Amino acid sequence: MKISRLRIYQVDLPLDKPYALCGGRLHYTALDSTIVVIETDQGLFGIGESCPWGASYLPAFALGVRAGLAELAPHLLGCNPLNLNAINQVMDQALPGHPYVKTAVDMACWDILGRHCNLPVHALLGGRLNTELILQSSIPTATPRQMVADMHLAHAEGYRTHSCKVGSGVPADLSRIQSLLAERVRGDHLTFDANRAWLPAQAVAVMNAVRDYEVHFEQPCETLEQCQHVRNLTRQPLILDECIHGASDLYRACALNTAQAIGLKIARVGGLTKARHLRDYCIQQGIQMNIEDVGGSQIADTAAMHLAMATPHHYLRASWNACRHHSIVTAQGGVQVSRGTARLDDTPGLGLTLCPDTLGDAVAMYE
Ligand code: MG
Repeated sequence: MKISRLRIYQVDLPLDKPYALCGGRLHYTALDSTIVVIETDQGLFGIGESCPWGASYLPAFALGVRAGLAELAPHLLGCNPLNLNAINQVMDQALPGHPYVKTAVDMACWDILGRHCNLPVHALLGGRLNTELILQSSIPTATPRQMVADMHLAHAEGYRTHSCKVGSGVPADLSRIQSLLAERVRGDHLTFDANRAWLPAQAVAVMNAVRDYEVHFEQPCETLEQCQHVRNLTRQPLILDECIHGASDLYRACALNTAQAIGLKIARVGGLTKARHLRDYCIQQGIQMNIEDVGGSQIADTAAMHLAMATPHHYLRASWNACRHHSIVTAQGGVQVSRGTARLDDTPGLGLTLCPDTLGDAVAMYE
């Protein structure tokens, strides 16, 4: 089987509500998603998606996805999409780095492999270990009152784990955190995610001010070393997210015992093939994961859920679903969300059917 054509689509995903992280540092009203359809000489095709969270969340941006795909496409044409290792090798040789570009291609090739084998992608990623997955809400940075209202809304929708975004300074963040702790529904789990906005001293001050609460803190500071500094001076469980770009970052974090969990975002590490390796290493090291994607529509959410479905339950914390933040439907099928949980059936591949009306015309075609 050979890749015969890549079709590239661009879809705007207007957010239902403007979303801000880190005290307004990352403020977006819409996301720009790129959807890739890979066709083969045998009539099978696969679907992938890459949707950076704007241009300032990670070293990734939407125009970069499409420019990177233009660079990669000539190298991919004629390759066997069923050989994921070879596909990744070709991409890594043709374009070092840029994992957020490669994720869409890798995802589409897993979809082709599943359709070819008549198996769901989760079966190919190790086999189903869960019937449903726990989802977490994402509470954007706002006033304490607004954040409490958003947390209660998420609870009413069935979410029991909430990732509350902080990171704008010690007094303001303590005010948010104390309000959320006071108002949370008994039994709900809270994570305070600074998205790397704190200096180590700020993180230590905030975390030690609420040291008696059983909550998680996520990516307090920019680098692994800064997070390690915080680790040494605090007691709450830490989750690393944006500083885990690949396997070597995870190995270092594990060697230092920095974190009890990581955010395993598929696009940030370059696709399902690489994410699977990180997943397996986390299991070996006793590290929990929030398996999810950086952003996007049903396609990206569904791909991440396939990996989570094939991961032992007690290594999973909660997954975030990007689709909760917008109402654009790019594909039918795939992940089904209800009352803060996600399910996937056993439809072959990713289990998705594209919605051509949403996609419009291809913005690029390589053949
Ligand atoms: Mg995070």
